[in-house]
Amino acid sequence: MDVKENNIEKVKCLIIGSGPAGYTAGIYASRANLNPVVYEGLQPGGQLTTTTEIDNFPGYPEGISGPVMMGELKKQAERFGCDCRWGIVTDVDFEQRPYKVTVDGKTEIEAESVIIATGATAKYLGLESEEKFKGSGVSACATCDGFFYRGKDVAVVGGGDTACEEASYLAGLCNKVYLVVRKDHLRASKAMQERVFKTENIEILFEHNTKELTGGMGVEGCTLMKKAGTPEEEEVKIAIDGFFLAIGHHPNSDVFSKYIKTDDQGYILTEAGTPKTNVAGVYACGDVQDPVYRQAITSAASGCQAAMEAERYLAELN
Ligand code: NDP
Repeated sequence: MDVKENNIEKVKCLIIGSGPAGYTAGIYASRANLNPVVYEGLQPGGQLTTTTEIDNFPGYPEGISGPVMMGELKKQAERFGCDCRWGIVTDVDFEQRPYKVTVDGKTEIEAESVIIATGATAKYLGLESEEKFKGSGVSACATCDGFFYRGKDVAVVGGGDTACEEASYLAGLCNKVYLVVRKDHLRASKAMQERVFKTENIEILFEHNTKELTGGMGVEGCTLMKKAGTPEEEEVKIAIDGFFLAIGHHPNSDVFSKYIKTDDQGYILTEAGTPKTNVAGVYACGDVQDPVYRQAITSAASGCQAAMEAERYLAELN
């Protein structure tokens, strides 16, 4: 389907990334006859493949597991001819059209339009025990997984807006929420801080760092170090069933940063209300351009917008 010339594959619409944004862009672009190619990246299916159950995506009254849902989105895109491939984009040249994209350091592709849907990666503390309990007590998304901890005790790590928002959300579901903050103050906005301070079942543990998580099949407790490295250093143990990371995300935009404008955290800047980047014919959708909502449904919606914009752009070119 794609034209090959001098061994360089030519693609009308290249989609980079395979979460809800990338696959939805694939569904729309293939139905619009753009013969899209999706490079799935390091984690085919994206962040949702690390969550257990998705209960808040409209249309699944009984909920659906993250990996199953991503598999279905992929199948839906492939049904219309979307070409989904393994591969990581290692370099791009957006200087002029057709845009050049290198996959796995060797395969070169020329694309008339590009949709960036590379997502963001939640930051973790890097503890061995955290790795062990990922998916069985450790989560980086309260909105996705909080429901499973109804009536239980949980901890949230972080002191920014996300941590406060997640702690507030969990406080509405859980018996008790510990907010574990490494400094002696919160970084979150004043309004968000107020909300947390006023919530009775949130206990803020300032100047605490996580040492390790304990448990059997799932998380049962957490060992913290209070005022680590000072004479008042003290080990503190709390009993919890869930441990939520909210220490920030890293948008996967580094490979594009030479050409595509980002904010100071690396989130791709798009024209308000559209997926348009500063380069004509290059669009960004999903978490790589969204520091605020970061939901499967909002990602999918922006993937749809990106494909529709690519279609319009290509129609105007021709
Ligand atoms: P932030 O970078 O703002 O905050 C990260 C928090 O995690 C900080 O408190 C930081 O501590 C802490 N942290 C980082 N690394 C570690 C570590 N290794 N151990 C313990 N704690 C750690 O990230 P957010 O995700 O909270 O917010 C990102 C952006 O999105 C912000 O601009 C925020 O305002 C915005 N946002 C807005 C929302 C809204 O308006 N509704 C909702 C959510 C986010 P320290 O302070 O010590 O550096």
